[in-house]
Amino acid sequence: MSTAPVFGGRIVTRLDPSYEEARQVWNAVPDHRPLEIRYCRDAQDVAAALRDALARGLPFAARSGGHSAAALSVVPDGVVIDVSPLNSISLDQDASQVTFGSGATLGAIYRTLWESGVTVPAGTCPNIGVAGHVLGGGLGILSRSRGPLVDHLIGVTMVDARGELVTADEENHSDLLWACRGGGGGNYGIATSFTLRTQPIADVTLFNITWRFDDLGPAVKAWQSWLADADHRINPFMMLYPREQDMVATVGVMEGTPDAFEPLVKPLLDAVEPSEVVIEPMSFIQAVDTVEALQGEAAVAKSVRALGSSAIIDRPLDDRALETLRRHLIDPPSHRSEVAIYGMGGKIAAKGREETAFVHRTELMAFEYRTDWDEPADDEKNVAWVRSVRQEMAEHTTGGTYTNTVDLGVENWLWGYYEENLPRLMGVKHRYDPDGVFQHAHSVPLSLTEAEASRFGIPEQIRRTLRAAGRLT
Ligand SMILES: Cc1cc2nc3c(=O)[nH]c(=O)nc-3n(C[C@H](O)[C@H](O)[C@H](O)COP(=O)(O)OP(=O)(O)OC[C@H]3O[C@@H](n4cnc5c(N)ncnc54)[C@H](O)[C@@H]3O)c2cc1C
Repeated sequence: MSTAPVFGGRIVTRLDPSYEEARQVWNAVPDHRPLEIRYCRDAQDVAAALRDALARGLPFAARSGGHSAAALSVVPDGVVIDVSPLNSISLDQDASQVTFGSGATLGAIYRTLWESGVTVPAGTCPNIGVAGHVLGGGLGILSRSRGPLVDHLIGVTMVDARGELVTADEENHSDLLWACRGGGGGNYGIATSFTLRTQPIADVTLFNITWRFDDLGPAVKAWQSWLADADHRINPFMMLYPREQDMVATVGVMEGTPDAFEPLVKPLLDAVEPSEVVIEPMSFIQAVDTVEALQGEAAVAKSVRALGSSAIIDRPLDDRALETLRRHLIDPPSHRSEVAIYGMGGKIAAKGREETAFVHRTELMAFEYRTDWDEPADDEKNVAWVRSVRQEMAEHTTGGTYTNTVDLGVENWLWGYYEENLPRLMGVKHRYDPDGVFQHAHSVPLSLTEAEASRFGIPEQIRRTLRAAGRLT
């Protein structure tokens, strides 16, 4: 950009009647009040908004779908640089590649691609913005059969720390592309568009297999052994609900026919008798809608009071761990408290841990302890529930945590998100954001102190690498 870009989008300030709506994001608990929200129409607006915030010395955050679990896309007394109007979705002529504006939502993406018989494997909630989602990894409905969303990302254009546009692909700025494949939102620049490879998709088999709450232990035990060797075309979630719902369920999609699925699922059904089995062929887009509907109110809510916390698990849970989960679901603080388990493996493990910034390739399961509720008076007991289940389960987990489930209460977050990819991510940060312009509560830092490295639980071997690069002081 040779001349300074001029902002031409809509600016909503605190005096504007639409301010309350404009500052709203999915998680209502942090309740941040920004100075202004700038709706960007194009990349020039993003650059202008960023330059303006920097010139005024104001904190800022980019916002796409506003689904950061910790509301990191809204800053108190700062500027929200909202990219939601950048929501174009354009397929190339043979539909093998798609370019999204960084404000496109997953629901719109699934629907548009479906019209051309293709898809990308992404998350299960239609209102999630693609920017936060893909930058953090993107796990969901086809992860085991096709890998996380980042494995399909081949290009990203962003406004960098100087307010200039930079396009990263395999040939140019490939280290930035690597970092954007799971290195987390709000770290290196403000993305304006993403290019991904698509793949054909047609009919799938949807399954929803439920057991009684009293069978939680045996059902999860059987499920995790089944998962460990499951055909990679099977994409299962395990949902553990409060006892009052008398249900645990594995829900998901198999890329194949019911005839192909039935023998594959038989060992699981034989291990613990389910209370209900639904196995149905349907179009992929119907399956997307069905999984979304099964997710409950929070998945489609515009704004809720919520807390979620992620933990990565690399081996089947023992009886003690299963009892801990069961106990926490007997009388949880909300009827919407639950434990969601993403089945990992399959194509997630097809790439090495260091091939992309998304490091959690080799593990068995990603847990999410999550709860949402209506009244501020219930904040404390819901937060306490998440803290309790997380703490008691800690000894059964790797210490890893998923970048896209930001929980500001997790102490070792920096190591948990990135593990051995941390030194390279800090190197990319130095190259593209040498002054640390892009910052939030869980952003990749330029450097660390020894005390911080201890607090994050960074192993000595990695600390040596950081010391050698001058990033540990
Ligand atoms: C109900 C619900 C369901 C979910 N389901 C899934 C799921 O199935 N699978 C899964 O993997 N995850 C899931 N998530 C997590 C979701 O992927 C992350 O919260 C994701 O970061 C949300 O992206 P967003 O753009 O909507 O969020 P935002 O709040 O807009 O942004 C998230 C982060 O990215 C930054 N950011 C936003 N826009 C940009 C940009 N243009 N450039 C650079 N940084 C930017 C923000 O500043 C913030 O730090 C779910 C979350 C919710 C609340």
